[in-house]
Amino acid sequence: PDGSHVRALVIGTGYGGSVAALRLARAGVDVHMVEMGMAWDTPGPDGKIFANTTTPDYRSFWLRTRTRQPLSQFLGFPLDKDVPIHTGILDAEDFAGITVYQGRGVGGGSLVNGGMAVTPLRERFPEILPTVDPAEMYSTYYPRANAGLGVTSVDVNWWENADCYQYARVGRKHAQRSGFPFVFVPNVYDWDYMKQEAAGAVQKSALAGEVIYGNNVGKKSLQKTYLAQAAATGRVSVSPLHRVTSVSPAAAGGYTVVVDQIDTTGATLVTKTVRADRVFFAAGSVGTSKLLTRLKATGALPSLNEHIGKGWGDNGNVMCGRANHMWDPTGKLQSSMPTAGIDNWNAGGAFAEVAPLPTGIETYASFYLSITRTPRRAEFSWNPATGKVDLSWDRAWKQTSIDMAKSIFDKINSKEGTIYRTDLFGAYKIWGDHLTYHPLGGAVLGRATDNYGRLHGHPGLYAIDGSLIPGNTSVNPFVTITALAERNIERIVAEDF
Ligand code: FAD
Repeated sequence: PDGSHVRALVIGTGYGGSVAALRLARAGVDVHMVEMGMAWDTPGPDGKIFANTTTPDYRSFWLRTRTRQPLSQFLGFPLDKDVPIHTGILDAEDFAGITVYQGRGVGGGSLVNGGMAVTPLRERFPEILPTVDPAEMYSTYYPRANAGLGVTSVDVNWWENADCYQYARVGRKHAQRSGFPFVFVPNVYDWDYMKQEAAGAVQKSALAGEVIYGNNVGKKSLQKTYLAQAAATGRVSVSPLHRVTSVSPAAAGGYTVVVDQIDTTGATLVTKTVRADRVFFAAGSVGTSKLLTRLKATGALPSLNEHIGKGWGDNGNVMCGRANHMWDPTGKLQSSMPTAGIDNWNAGGAFAEVAPLPTGIETYASFYLSITRTPRRAEFSWNPATGKVDLSWDRAWKQTSIDMAKSIFDKINSKEGTIYRTDLFGAYKIWGDHLTYHPLGGAVLGRATDNYGRLHGHPGLYAIDGSLIPGNTSVNPFVTITALAERNIERIVAEDF
């Protein structure tokens, strides 16, 4: 409530925020979490909490009047449509050179993501977080994160015969025929539930294609893991539909935090001011970077250092589809939870997720999200004329990522005698190079913060989310975000509380 005082305030309820809340609460600290998205605990008129991938509605997008689907076209037809403005689950946040997709609600990105839970190869870790000791990460914090998230692997014997993974088996065949390593990757989906979906025994969730607008049953989002455990401590409270707009030093000590309570059209209902001894920025790479960049530039947090807003990367994301021959159908039933990737990181700088295209019809398409070793990094800056934070990303920079992805798919196409799809991202457009699902950086560990996420210049302020990671994780990022948060919060609890 307005005027209250809390010991620890966490901005955002994604991976970093959930880890911080649980570990602080278990150490006896009362925590208040502030989340600008909705709670996602109430069914809509169709009896479901989340909308389907093929039929986005008012629940699907964050404060937009028209959908902005990652795949904007199919067979030449535009897919986007008008929707009522609503605090929906997926934010397609536009900057000049890139659209950054992010989850909105209690659970952050865990509500919308594909659940691919990948620990990077240890040999690649020094490139990802150069100031962190790999030994402690791989012995303690990656295992802790994987356990906390409920990460498990698909039963390969079942997978080999499941209709819903035909697309992945086609992906394997094509990868291996071209000599690329095909690797299974773990996920947070409940595989027993998926088997029951396939057997027709339960409500379909992954097998109904549910993913980017929420998953109604089988995926273990943070609501079911870290946040449930945090709630069970009795020390964590959460305010959904509350947006933090300012943090500044308080005369009485600690920080004054200004929070707008919003309605489901995004309009401010009431502005509240609370005091917090310590504040954890866990608003995601973009959310944390935007807040810190503005608060530094406008004088609210004047002592933040010159690294704020810098070192931002897109994890080298680029998407593409391939058109298969008629004898290589990918299946009209496709599980929305990916299980595998093609690893050409060392030779070509790309790790490609063999992704589903859950349209409900046979498309003969293979679809991939590539993560690439792009050297490009952008920075956030405050624009006083517009009152907004800009990002210096240049769309042309994606060419390096495209070239790296081509190291895999040009070879597969030539081996298979196939071509790229040109109908998924606009007419005659092969590459989905306008977007990222994996924003990283902006408050980089060891630069904007000390080596544990304590923001330089203002004691008691921390960054504890994807903003700490300097732009690339070589694989999908949430396990690394979670593991780093586990490492940092252990130290912060021991030394600062
Ligand atoms: P987030 O999870 O983004 O959480 C930040 C939270 O803070 C959000 O809930 C936001 O609403 C809230 N917030 C922001 N600003 C404010 C404010 N001012 N006040 C209050 N609250 C605020 N990663 C993988 O590893 N595997 C995958 O399979 C995968 N698939 C993905 C698919 C999609 C479609 C998308 C969009 C992402 C995917 N990702 C995947 C990426 C992954 O979800 C993110 O890397 C991860 O969620 C980032 O965690 P975080 O803790 O940094 O922040």
